[in-house]
Amino acid sequence: MRLLLVEDNARFSELVRRALVTDGFAVDTAQTLRAAQDFLEAASYDLVLLDLGLPDGDGLTLVKSLRSRALAVPILVMTARDGLDARVSGLDLGADDYLVKPFATAELAARCRALLRRPGGILGSVLTAGNLTLDSNAHEARVADKRLELPPRELSLLELLMRRSGQVVARATLENSLYSMGQEVSPNALEAAASRLRRRLAAAGADVTLHTAHGIGYALMSSDAKD
Ligand code: CA
Repeated sequence: MRLLLVEDNARFSELVRRALVTDGFAVDTAQTLRAAQDFLEAASYDLVLLDLGLPDGDGLTLVKSLRSRALAVPILVMTARDGLDARVSGLDLGADDYLVKPFATAELAARCRALLRRPGGILGSVLTAGNLTLDSNAHEARVADKRLELPPRELSLLELLMRRSGQVVARATLENSLYSMGQEVSPNALEAAASRLRRRLAAAGADVTLHTAHGIGYALMSSDAKD
């Protein structure tokens, strides 16, 4: 899941970014409204975290402009305690949630996951495919009740594929969700992650397989339906 964090306080931004990356999110950071708009034009995001007091304007103008363009990306407003009015108007303008600063990063991560679970193609927090289950809150995958140890990126890849189980998910969609901007991504990083995940699933006895749709993307299919 890819997040855009818009916050001009560099220390606070870095603190939040690190916590979310540890939690398995890919995070891009913008310090100004202008930069946020550039990021939003260049990539697609699953969630925007938005500070309101930005050097070149009010974060609420970004909420307004995203909603006027009918962009459905969830927005979580991060506001100071004296910004209670702003918080209400933020929700009026189409923000989805708010958090009053200062807040614990664990609380922020939990709110992010809750927003990402909302309807709009996104299922609940526990996903199932064959004998494979994935709890996106607990960051845990299991094959027939046995824990499957996966590094964060492979777990995210598995989650994206499980959310669209039985369908081919485009490479670009996967890459967009898994890697943040400016991150060194070798051309075959996704292939490498997919083949490691495929081996781990097979070794654990999962009855789903990860198929490569050459040149298009990847799909998670139940093993008896693979031909
Ligand atoms: Ca600020």
